[in-house]
Amino acid sequence: MSQTLRYIAQFVPSFPTPMEPGILYISTTYSTAGHICPCGCDREVVTKLSPARWRVIYDGEVSLKPSVAAMGLPCNSHYFITRGEVEWHRKLDPVQAAKARSADHRAVEDLRTTPTSAQTKAGGTVNFSV
Ligand SMILES: [Zn+2]
Repeated sequence: MSQTLRYIAQFVPSFPTPMEPGILYISTTYSTAGHICPCGCDREVVTKLSPARWRVIYDGEVSLKPSVAAMGLPCNSHYFITRGEVEWHRKLDPVQAAKARSADHRAVEDLRTTPTSAQTKAGGTVNFSV
């Protein structure tokens, strides 16, 4: 297995099996992005796209925000995908990982309890809110 340094976007109705390394699949049907972990562990990382979770920005190159901390994967990778490039970040220790999980949970709860006009009109932002 080798590390993935770059991703290209592929818009698909649903994810292929298996996924190919180096491709960030964006499912418009399920508002979900999926990719193979860039560390080389070959695990699939699936990120839910919503204003409280992850956003995909496509401006010719693909970005996935915020960072992916692949908790639940043995590799515990933590990285950004910015304009197609993988940017590695320090791995989270177990305490930080737990915090990140609860922060993520809170963000989702906030979204549920606060109806917002989270639709973005910014050019180039791919927004899959349903
Ligand atoms: Zn990995």
